[in-house]
This record gives sequence, structure tokens and C-alpha cells, in this order.
Amino acid sequence: MQMKARCKGLVTLFTFFVLLGFHSSPMAFQRSIEENQYALWNAVATRAVKEARNLMGAPHPQDAVVLTNAGYAVVEGLTTEPCLDGLRQWEGATAGKRSLLEVHSARNSALWFFFFNRRTGQGVYYELKGQNISWIIGWLEYFRAPWIRRIIAALPTDQLFGEPAYEENILAEHLLANQANKDAWNDKVAAKVFGGREFAIVTIANGIAHGTPYDLIKSVQFHDHYCPGVTSGYLLANYLEKNFPLLVPGSAYFVLSIPPWCKDDALQILLNTTPGKSGYAVFYLSAADKGNLREEAKDLAGVFFRKNQSGKWEGVVLGFSFAKIEEMGGPTTAQGYAWESRLAMDLWLLDYLDQPELFINVIKTFELQQGAPSDWARVGVDPLDAAHLDLWKPASTP
Ligand SMILES: [Zn+2]
Repeated sequence: MQMKARCKGLVTLFTFFVLLGFHSSPMAFQRSIEENQYALWNAVATRAVKEARNLMGAPHPQDAVVLTNAGYAVVEGLTTEPCLDGLRQWEGATAGKRSLLEVHSARNSALWFFFFNRRTGQGVYYELKGQNISWIIGWLEYFRAPWIRRIIAALPTDQLFGEPAYEENILAEHLLANQANKDAWNDKVAAKVFGGREFAIVTIANGIAHGTPYDLIKSVQFHDHYCPGVTSGYLLANYLEKNFPLLVPGSAYFVLSIPPWCKDDALQILLNTTPGKSGYAVFYLSAADKGNLREEAKDLAGVFFRKNQSGKWEGVVLGFSFAKIEEMGGPTTAQGYAWESRLAMDLWLLDYLDQPELFINVIKTFELQQGAPSDWARVGVDPLDAAHLDLWKPASTP
């Protein structure tokens, strides 16, 4: 009886496959799964583009920008990179034109899209309700690609994306124009109109609209938002290139970041020196630790090592002063909403990217007589103590 039931099940399954037009070879089967996965995500992105166009109209191709975490987000076990091809329908957006921007996220983040017109500032945010298409994903291998496209095209918008969040103007000139505008936008930040990504989206979109260089944008994409801290990393990289360049062809910096902040994500992108490649270490400092640093080291950012021609490592200890921004008449973090001062600083700093010396000071330079920089980052070693950099105030070694 059991045998008979199993046979019947197999026959049904076989018929099902034949009806759906599947080929019997495993290679062909694999190809059709890949094709279906591509069709699904391409259709989801295509649908989002269509919805955005209905709401905002089609921007001029030069003004169309789209931000997304497609390719990072994994939904119901499926990677989402085919969305990136679908998003090109947003008036030809591509990475090469700085109009298709992949923003780093954790795999388990919701898949999202933000369509932006960089001239008018209009933008609309869509977040996929992954649970509502899990049934399609569950049956993916039994569908054919054109069906998937048709199903996605026919789903009610709110079932696919929930309520889209449409904003008339998110350009800094508008948001920061007066207190009423600031208050109005801050209420929307509190209400998480862009799924809690308001700061990331507004700062990155404004960076694109205001001509932030692409290598800084790459750092921002990795960091997942655009803040003055990332710019400080960009300035440090510019400083190193100008004043402490690599001396040995093919060599790389070793960075000992003390303390780490947003800058470290920029440095990894710009210098391609990472912990995974044994080129990066960080030491945290508590508020008390910072208070115990010698006066000349109060803006400490880190120690940067390069190898010289004689094979020895030399280091430069650098500080970065955010206070300098205020001294120069720039925006201050003490005033206004957190997003407000940071957005203003991002844009203000754009005028000084080629003048890193304005914010960076050399605390110390030295040469390692023996060993490697990684010896300074070992458990139990304090690189700031008297045997190394000697940057603690006397009698304050923690
Ligand atoms: Zn940051």
C-alpha cells in the first residue's frame, strides 16, 4: 500500500514536471532555477521602477538616481543581485554614471529601493515585504520565468512593498532652509518614513546631488551612510598619499587605528588594507582613556606604518580635529538635530577634500628598529605606553 502511494506520488510529480515543460537533465534544471531566480528579482525591481514612475514621473536620464541594498539582502534564502539589472530601467541608471548605488547592508536586512530625482529632490522609498512572496520563492523551481514576471506584475502594490514613502524634496537646500522644514523632516525621521534609513538615504542622495567624488561615495556605500566621520577617513587617506606615500612598489600600509570611528571604513576601501589581509588593527579608547592622552594626542586617529627602502617599518601618528570645522566657521554638531549638523558638515567638507592638512596634525613619527607593526597590536601590548608611543599623560597609564 505504502509502495503504491509512493509510486503514485512519483507519477504525479513526473507529470507535473512534464506539464511545466522541464527538461530532465540536472544541468537544464539548474539553469531553469537560475533563470527563475533572475526573473523573480528582475520583475520585483521592474515593478518598483514602474511604481516610482507613476508617483514621480520619469526624471531626465541625467537626474535619475537609485539607491538599493540589492545584492546584499538575502530574501528567503535567495540572493537579490538580479534586481540591479532591473533597476537600470530607472532611466538608464548605472554604476558608471553614479546613478545606481549599491548600499551595504546585512544579509538579513529587508530589500529596499530608493528612487531619486537629483534635480528636483523628489524621492520615493520601497521596501519589499519578503514574507508576502515567500510562497513564490517556495515554488520557484516549478514555475516558468514568464509566469513569475506576470505574477509579480499583478500583485497589489501594498502586498509587494507596503506603503511607499514619497517625499517632494529631500535636497539639503530644502531640508535645511528654515526651522519649519527641519522640524518637519525630523518628524519624518522619527516616524521612520524610509524604514529607519532616513539618514543614510538623505545623506547619500545629497552626496550624489552635490558632486561627492566617487571614491568617497564608494567608502560611504561600504559604511552604509554618509557622515563627516567617513569624510575624515577620506581626508586621512589623501593626507597619507600626499605626505607619507608608500615607498616600496607593491607594498601596503599597516593601519593601527586608535580609536576607531567611521573613518576606518573609508580607509579600508581607499587603501585596501583590511584586518582580513593582516593590514589593520584597532584599539578602542574609553572616555577616561581619551582624557588621559597627552595634550598633543587629544585628537588621536591612529598610527600609519609604511615600509622604507631599507626594509624597516616607519610610522606616523596622526590626529584629526573635528573642532577645526567649527573654528573655520563650519557647521557644529552642538546645534540642531543630529542628522541636520551631519548633513551640513558632509556638504561643507566637500570644499576641503584636497586640503587634509587643515584638519590633520602629525603627533609623532618614528622607525621600528625591529619586528612588524602587527607586534604592536598583539593581546597584552599597549601601543600608547612609554615603551612604544609614550602618549599617556605621566602617571596615568591605565
Ligand atoms: Zn558614520
